[in-house]
Amino acid sequence: MDVYLDHHATTPCLPEVVDAMLPWFTERFGNAGSRSHRWGYEARTATEHARGQLALGLGCSPKALVLTSGATEADNLAILGVLRANRSRGDHVVTVATEHEAVLATVRAAEREGFRVTVLPVGPDGLLDPDVLVGALTDRTVLASVMWVNNETGVVQPIARLGEICRERGVLFHTDAAQAPCWLPMALADLPVDLASVSAHKLYGPKGIGALYVRRGRPRVDLEPILHGGGQERGLRSGTLPVPLVIGFGEAVARLDRARVPEVARLRDGLLERLKTVGDVHLNGSREHRVAGNLNVRIGGVDVRALMLAVRDVAMSSGSACTSESLTPSHVLRAMGLTPDEAATSVRLGLGLHTTEEAVDHAAEALIAGITTVRGL
Ligand SMILES: *Cc1c(COP(=O)(O)O)cnc(C)c1O
Repeated sequence: MDVYLDHHATTPCLPEVVDAMLPWFTERFGNAGSRSHRWGYEARTATEHARGQLALGLGCSPKALVLTSGATEADNLAILGVLRANRSRGDHVVTVATEHEAVLATVRAAEREGFRVTVLPVGPDGLLDPDVLVGALTDRTVLASVMWVNNETGVVQPIARLGEICRERGVLFHTDAAQAPCWLPMALADLPVDLASVSAHKLYGPKGIGALYVRRGRPRVDLEPILHGGGQERGLRSGTLPVPLVIGFGEAVARLDRARVPEVARLRDGLLERLKTVGDVHLNGSREHRVAGNLNVRIGGVDVRALMLAVRDVAMSSGSACTSESLTPSHVLRAMGLTPDEAATSVRLGLGLHTTEEAVDHAAEALIAGITTVRGL
């Protein structure tokens, strides 16, 4: 039995989502930007319907959404777009050491453009202390970017509190929310959040599409596009809309059902208890402030690469997918104070909304056998 426990890396596209997408590749192939015939009209109507589904699921106005190629591009647009558009107001951006590379590499790029960057530390539980954020903001700070849910540890940052702190000080607040929608209710417009990045393939939709939420109303969120061209997405993201992907994204969000979240949390907790029976197994990151699907554990004496070789039929990860090929230990776990050795003996197990008890049972048995094997070597 093969068990997929790597839902933080990506999720399968729901068959119903694929079905909804298919006609838009073939008979309904129009360009949503074409104004002079029914093919274009049909595509535009359908993409606007999908935008409505996204808005409903994310709790915001359809006009607040800029469709992008994914969360990576949304993060780039949020950070570079805000900094470049607000040069007259300041030159400083604040973020956190445990962010995804899509944020960290982007602030480094901004630094090379002359902006100043502060990367804040987290506690051993992976949480950013709001007082640390307060201490980092200056009258030159334009933007703070703090992820909602960490992709390695599942740790949930206190986004509402952090957003409030920024709002009180006139600092724009961006959150990378790619890992949030499966587990947490989304009501973006009700939060003190100015910009938020999401990705379809993290919520049972297709790869290659995502969105940046940009708050509407006053004070205006000034944003400069990073891609230039035909002026689609209100000039903020040029490029022909990938109609089938837009349809799939809308359908995936409309079908997102969090009814099983408590059950998944129960399965995750059971898996942790089973793993603990081998001894010297420790949870990385806050237990309380964590999404239901995540388990990130350090297993004393067990190099995760050896464990993955020993347990071939359970898909898991030693860190984020983008860096798992390299030997550098997870920057997230290092930022939480783990030694390189502790990080190298930590594994991320990511359950999905459809993960069954049978699958978790099998994974627990296979992992326990694998740990015993690796420790015996
Ligand atoms: C997956 C992920 C991304 C990248 O999203 P893509 O749509 O694959 O570009 C960014 N941030 C976080 C937190 C993620 O989990």
